[in-house]
Amino acid sequence: MANGLWNTLFAQHAGREEPFLFLKDGQTISYEAYIQETGRMANALADAGVAPGDRILVQVAKTPESLALYGACVRMGAVFLPLNTAYTASEVDYFAGDAEPAVIVCDPANAVAIGPIAEKIDAAVLTLDANGAGSLKSAADKAASDFAPADRGPDDLAAILYTSGTTGRSKGAMLTQDNLLSNALALTDVWRFTADDVLLHALPIFHTHGLFVATNVTLKAGGSMIFLPAFKVDEVITHLPKATAMMGVPTFYTRLLDAEAFTGDVVKHMRLFVAGSAPLLAETHRAFEERTGHRILERYGMTETGMITSNPYEAERRAGTVGFPLPLVSVRVCDPESGGKLPQGDIGVIEVKGPNVFKGYWRMPEKTKEEFRADGFFVTGDMGRIDDEGYVVIVGRAKDLIISGGFNVYPKEVELAIDEIPGVIESAVVGAPHPDFGEGVIGVVVPENTAQLSEDAVLASLKDKLARFKQPKRIFFCDALPRNAMGKVQKNQLRDAFGAAFKERA
Ligand code: AMP
Repeated sequence: MANGLWNTLFAQHAGREEPFLFLKDGQTISYEAYIQETGRMANALADAGVAPGDRILVQVAKTPESLALYGACVRMGAVFLPLNTAYTASEVDYFAGDAEPAVIVCDPANAVAIGPIAEKIDAAVLTLDANGAGSLKSAADKAASDFAPADRGPDDLAAILYTSGTTGRSKGAMLTQDNLLSNALALTDVWRFTADDVLLHALPIFHTHGLFVATNVTLKAGGSMIFLPAFKVDEVITHLPKATAMMGVPTFYTRLLDAEAFTGDVVKHMRLFVAGSAPLLAETHRAFEERTGHRILERYGMTETGMITSNPYEAERRAGTVGFPLPLVSVRVCDPESGGKLPQGDIGVIEVKGPNVFKGYWRMPEKTKEEFRADGFFVTGDMGRIDDEGYVVIVGRAKDLIISGGFNVYPKEVELAIDEIPGVIESAVVGAPHPDFGEGVIGVVVPENTAQLSEDAVLASLKDKLARFKQPKRIFFCDALPRNAMGKVQKNQLRDAFGAAFKERA
């Protein structure tokens, strides 16, 4: 049967006794055991009435069983729809109402709250807990491990991932078999993954990074993963000596650097460190190289597109850039308003086209149309430029662009200037309503423990570095920037937290 994603990533491993997952407790799960579990789960879901094209909404802990559930969906042609475990029942209610899944798989502890949500849309409820036990697992245990893969074409949906929705309602990005497959093939190749690789996996699997980038690349290459439920710095340091590669969000790297036990010796045998999902500070890149001798390879992508660009494996991995477009992927920088292509080097909105680009937003044809140009390019909403040598540089989200007194201020530029001030660990720059300027620039600074930084001192050090209109009108201090599970700074929270104080003094 045609089912490219299943055939290329999964089916090749049937009967292989080599390890696929190494678990925290020392257990190993072979490829054969994993493939069999996908068959049992597919049978259990089919018994619950699931047919190809049906959505399976999944809000459960990261376990080998929840990863088998992903494989089961691919095998039976169901659409895998994982949700962040942090979402509350009322948020799940929105996603369930929008996606109308045939089955909701949740933690047994949430089954009571999920019951009425499922009832409204006539969905069945099955459970899996943090140990991989629950009604889905019990049903799978009784089922056969054979399951004939469903017939699915390259354009059929494999998954829906909801965007994080920091502005407005979260949207369901429809990802096809070919979106996932083309990205897995490209990444395995450009990052040189082989069956000898052991990937340290500490990312969540409800997001594209941990689910598709890490897992699909490992499956394609036939390597294995040290599959940790979450990122705990001590645990990661314990397991790194057995890994050949790690993929992480930037906070993984800063947390490793903060740990004394993280030395060059721990990772001297490693082949590759990949970072993405949020900007990696050039300073983290440098500090990591100093400590370990490894240059982190930064890449860029998003839920709607999978991975778009990557720094090169062999040539220079340039700090502060996200590298070059992946094979078959086209990237251009355009004027956000007119859509006209800008000369190389100019800052504009990043647009992308290729087999990795999603099919559209679930049940939102109008919204989908708004985000695509007539020639098929998807408007990412990220502002950036392409340097002389073709490296892509991201300067922030278009919606984070600050327009102060009619001038464009790119927060990243101001953040980089602030971060250079001695005693500053990191910073975030946001716009807040200002009576004269429309928006005023404000900086939020995380100082080093011992630093005696004052607002006036920070402002004074920026005077000669930035044009007047880019200089923050106020500086606020905090202990840590608010970040989500993927390490992204939550700028809307900073605007809420400091915008009012700014207004009083503006
Ligand atoms: P998500 O859909 O949650 O994966 O978020 C995608 C967004 O994360 C992108 O549109 C970028 O704004 C940001 N992002 C991902 N990778 C990077 C990176 N390497 N540097 C800067 N921003 C990034």
